[in-house]
Amino acid sequence: MAINILIPTPLRQFTGGKSEVAVNATSVDEALNELTGEFTGLRKHLYTEQDTLRNFINLYVGDEDVRYLDGPKTKLSDGDELTIVPSIAGGSAAAPAEELPALTTEEYQRYSRHLILPEVGLDGQRKLKNARVLTIGTGGLGSPLGLYLAAAGVGTLGVVDFDVVDRSNLQRQIIHGTKDIGRSKIASATDRLKDVNPNINVEAFETRLTSENALELFREYDVVVDGTDNFQTRYLVNDAAVLTGKPNVYGSIFRFEGQASVFWSGRGACYRCLYPEPPPPGLVPSCAEGGVLGVLPGIVGTIQASEVLKVILGAEGILLNRLLLFDAWTMRFRELKLRKNPHCELCGENATIKELVDYDAFCGLNLPVEEELPYEEISAKELDGWIKGQVDLQIIDVREPHEYDFANIPGAQLIPLGQIVNRICEIPKGRTTIVHCKGGVRSAKAIGYLQDAGFQGRLINLKGGITAWSNDVDPTVPKY
Ligand SMILES: [Zn+2]
Repeated sequence: MAINILIPTPLRQFTGGKSEVAVNATSVDEALNELTGEFTGLRKHLYTEQDTLRNFINLYVGDEDVRYLDGPKTKLSDGDELTIVPSIAGGSAAAPAEELPALTTEEYQRYSRHLILPEVGLDGQRKLKNARVLTIGTGGLGSPLGLYLAAAGVGTLGVVDFDVVDRSNLQRQIIHGTKDIGRSKIASATDRLKDVNPNINVEAFETRLTSENALELFREYDVVVDGTDNFQTRYLVNDAAVLTGKPNVYGSIFRFEGQASVFWSGRGACYRCLYPEPPPPGLVPSCAEGGVLGVLPGIVGTIQASEVLKVILGAEGILLNRLLLFDAWTMRFRELKLRKNPHCELCGENATIKELVDYDAFCGLNLPVEEELPYEEISAKELDGWIKGQVDLQIIDVREPHEYDFANIPGAQLIPLGQIVNRICEIPKGRTTIVHCKGGVRSAKAIGYLQDAGFQGRLINLKGGITAWSNDVDPTVPKY
């Protein structure tokens, strides 16, 4: 059977410059054997020493990926076209060696420990210098990520953030220092990155990543790194990465647990293949509510940094189609296999998502403006006025005992959210009841639970929780 094999640009140096090679074969395996029999120098680029096809090589018969046919055993018919598609790390790995930037004398010295690694070497270091990496967020994950990518000599680092450095960030966001409290995170991070390595370009975007700016921004970079802390931005990053064909190096953290993966729709699963939909709002608490061990983002962020470097260098063992799970408390790593979901709405065969959407709405966060809250609210200042005016009321604090121990509103009774329904009889119905937590979310839930359980008395949520109380009434109550 006459089969035409299409050779991609990077491999043509091994086929005497030919872009197409005609062979006689009845299966994919046979065709590649014919090809590498004729061009022996090509074999080690397509096959490992164990004689299996290298996993960054994808093969297509017509427009079908052979992984979804019979793999290398896929039968071929006369006139079939076999395409070899090696992965390319954006512009950087694709650039021919002669187009990569040269290193300066200072850079030879700076990167000497990379230059003596055969896996990096001079060409690898020039690839890093040529690379453009966009990191979303300069927080817990973005800190170690940015520092290591800058130190490694990634030539252009885009950073996106809109936040201001707060004292409570410093327990884990090591790119910022105490002197930076109150400064914009972007300014603080840029200074630090330039200090680590003045050779790199830092492209700072002091803005929120939105459906309006994400695609334009992503197109300018080779690799995107997700250092976000909320589901809206996580789906936005994933969707924009898929729509622009960029690898998305993912990391997430909560309390003691972390996850990492490389989502790259051209070569494997995307985040939506793994999680087609976000959890309902409120089900998974944020780090601000649930806490996070300070060193955890350091570990996960450096795993991401390592994957970014490997993607740029064209390494084989990247976290593609693998979800790495890490538990710092038990110090265990686990790995799950990921598969590209053929029905994925974003990257599947019949994808329906062709553009970015409203991610607040997708994550269920848009409350209709007109809709009234199903409970009453009070501000911290108003509550203070009520207490001073001796209004008959009781305050129920639904946080956990360890939170109550170091910050509480005088006179408040502690009933943690998880016990509120079982202890309903401890709340007298005849008085006005103010319910509070740290920021107002758990207390709103508590009111819902009590109402569902048939509680008849008047329940009022303290807007902004004890944080608002500390801000507006009593600054001696510690904020956390
Ligand atoms: Zn997908």
